[in-house]
Order: sequence, then C-alpha cells, then structure tokens
Amino acid sequence: MGTSVLSSAFTERQGTLHCEGVSLEALATQVGTPAYVYSAGAIREQYERLTAALAGVSFRVHFSVKANSNLAVLALLRELGAGVDIVSGGELRRALAAGMAGPDVVFSGVGKTAAEMREALAAGVLFFNVESEGELRALEAVAAELGTVAPVALRVNPEVDVETPHAYTRTGGKGHKFGIPYDEVRQVARLALASPHLSLVGLDLHIGSQLSSMEPYEQGIAKVELLLRDIRADGAPDLAYLDIGGGLAVVYDDEPPTDIEAFGRTVRGVAERTGLRIVVEPGRFLVANAGVLLTRVLYTKRSGGKDYMIVDAGMTELIRPSHYDAYHRVAAVTPTGQRRTVDVVGPVCESGDFLALAREMDAVEPGGLVVVHSAGAYGMVMASNYNSRPRPCEVLVDGDRWAVVRERETFDTLVLGETTTPTWRRD
Ligand SMILES: *Cc1c(COP(=O)(O)O)cnc(C)c1O
Repeated sequence: MGTSVLSSAFTERQGTLHCEGVSLEALATQVGTPAYVYSAGAIREQYERLTAALAGVSFRVHFSVKANSNLAVLALLRELGAGVDIVSGGELRRALAAGMAGPDVVFSGVGKTAAEMREALAAGVLFFNVESEGELRALEAVAAELGTVAPVALRVNPEVDVETPHAYTRTGGKGHKFGIPYDEVRQVARLALASPHLSLVGLDLHIGSQLSSMEPYEQGIAKVELLLRDIRADGAPDLAYLDIGGGLAVVYDDEPPTDIEAFGRTVRGVAERTGLRIVVEPGRFLVANAGVLLTRVLYTKRSGGKDYMIVDAGMTELIRPSHYDAYHRVAAVTPTGQRRTVDVVGPVCESGDFLALAREMDAVEPGGLVVVHSAGAYGMVMASNYNSRPRPCEVLVDGDRWAVVRERETFDTLVLGETTTPTWRRD
C-alpha cells in the first residue's frame, strides 16, 4: 500500500516533503496550518496529458469548477486554454472573475434557478446542459423574457450501470436524479426544436466520478449516439456539440491509473462517427493529485487499544473520508522511519471526524506535520465552518515560488452578516 507515485510535484528532498521547490515545513511555518497547498506544475502536467491524448480531435476541456473553485486555479487553467463547466450562479461569477468569458462556460446542474439562467444568458454561455423538461420550459420562459435564444444541450441519463468507489458518485444510472430519462429525450428535443427561444446545440452525458474503466463511457456514448440518430432525423440543424462529461479517475492509493490513451481512442471514435465537437468536463483528473492538505499534530493518545493522532484538520477541511468513505494517503512531512498504526482524527465533535483509520504510517509527535495527499479536488470546496472553525488558507506553488491565493478565514469572516440584536419587523 502507498508506494506508487501520486504526483511528481510532491517529493522528498533532504528528508522532508516538498511541493515542487518549496519545503512544506517552511511553508507551514509561514502560513500556519491547516492549509491547502496546490502545485501549478502538477495541474499543467495533467492538462497536457489529457490534451495530448485527444490530439487531432475537435474538443475543448471545460474544467468542472466544483472540484476546485479557487480563482488562481481557474486563472491557471484559463491560461492553459481550458473553459469551465459550472453548476451554479456562484461558479459563473468565479469563472468570470478568473477571466473567463461567456463562451468559455458550459452550465450544468439539476436545479438551475431562473435568476441563474438570466445571469448565464446575459453572460452568453456556450450552452446550458438541461436536465429535465421542466427546466427546458423554465429556460425558454427566461429567454423569451430577455428576447433572446438560449443554446441548449440535453443531458441524457444513459441508464448504464456504473462502478464507482461510492454510490454517491454515480449519476448515470436508471432512477438517478441527474439527466433526462433516456426514453423521454427525443420528445424533449422536439420541444426544444419547436421553440423560437431555444436552440438545440448538443447532447450531454455525465455518468459518474472516479470511473475505473472506459466501459461505462463506451456504453453511455453508444446509447447517446442512438438518440443522436433519432434527433437528427427530426431535423436538428444547430447540433454541434457532444458533451461527454467528466469522471476520469485518479490514483488515491495503488489503484490502476486511468488509461488516458484508451480514453483518447474512445473520444476520437465518437468524434469521427458523429462529426460533433467534443466537450470534456474533468474535475478530479486535473487537480486531485495537484493538492495536499497540510496539518499539524496537536496530540497523540491511546484509547480502547488504539493509537490516535489528533491533528488540526478534520472533516471541516476535508469531508471525503467521512462522506464518501474515501481513502487518502496520509504521511509524515518529515518521516522518521518509525512505523505505527493510528487513527488520524480531527478536532471536530463528531465520531465521523476522521481523515484515516487504522493507518500504518510514520509516527509524528505533537507539533509535527502531516500531509493528506490527493486533496486538490473536492477538498476546500466542500470545507465548512462547523464547530465555528475558520476555513483554511490555500497556497499555490509554482517552481520555487509560492503565494497565498486565499487567506485563512478569521473570526470576523465567521460572523459576517450575523447580529446579536435582531431588527424586528412586522407587515
Ligand atoms: C462533478 C461533475 C463533473 C466533474 O466530475 P469529476 O469526477 O471531478 O471529473 C463534470 N460534469 C458534471 C456535470 C459534474 O457534475
């Protein structure tokens, strides 16, 4: 366990872990803990692996903002040529703040509000991934009100069986809340085609996250291609895009890595058969192993025959272990070689507040530093203020330079907008 390299950006130098050229010990001293640390080099490397695998295909990478929405990360991806996939009005604002323009944005999500639709139409997003007939009608009404035409892709629920590490990350199975039920898509497409305020520009699928094989992609895409034939037979002159979603897996421990060349072949095949421009929406793949959560040991104790390491980060900083039963590699920043089996737990008053259970790792004494690997995706974005804990800072490293790209929250930000003295009102 725990021997494969997760990212070449995090390596030991002189016996202590570095992010690229920056010592995590030195960094923790300067910015405090807990802290998220991201490697710009690792993000570039993954982006380039993906785009190289798709060479020759007409495609664009639309980074899934929900995986890591830090503005500096979004700006870095924009510089590399990526657009974004968003699931809320807040993410739209972030994308625009990071220098993206409307056509760089694809708007997904199962519960868009009319206000969010208005903003996205005003921004001129590339298209909306519409997930129900009700949403299509709502979007039509908003477009009519603004006197415009909304570009629409229909998110198809391909109703394939998906294997992912946790049920919560499966989205393309029959009965899931995501997408339009397969049998209804053609009918919804006809509604879109008949509306002067809608333009049917594409079809979309996103079947889950941390997909361990190409098979669900292949099956899902094949089913969408069948629909495409029907919809084209109905006359759909503006069809230009096939959005195949995200879900590319990364290595958290010793799983076999995603065969990115096989993914490239799958995508090349569908691009050639359909003649459509391909949109890919990776989140995790681009950022998960580009980030770590840096935390300091507060206490160690032995209880019920178990050794505990109590660190200053927990489920409030990284909820994946308790929410998805997710495995994250945890390691001493400066290993001693003395192995021990410990539960690595946080300070939050919940028994579910753990980062790793029964984990063999190098012993770290109170005051020492621990790193939680593969924390660049679905880490900070899911952080909360539970137990009135200020959310951590985020640091971006590039070579031997680093910068705080989001400051640690303070007590003042914790209580922002609250009052002890209600301003009572009556109608
Ligand atoms: C979450 C999500 C993604 C990204 O998933 P990853 O597993 O992080 O690649 C892409 N598209 C949609 C619609 C999503 O909801």
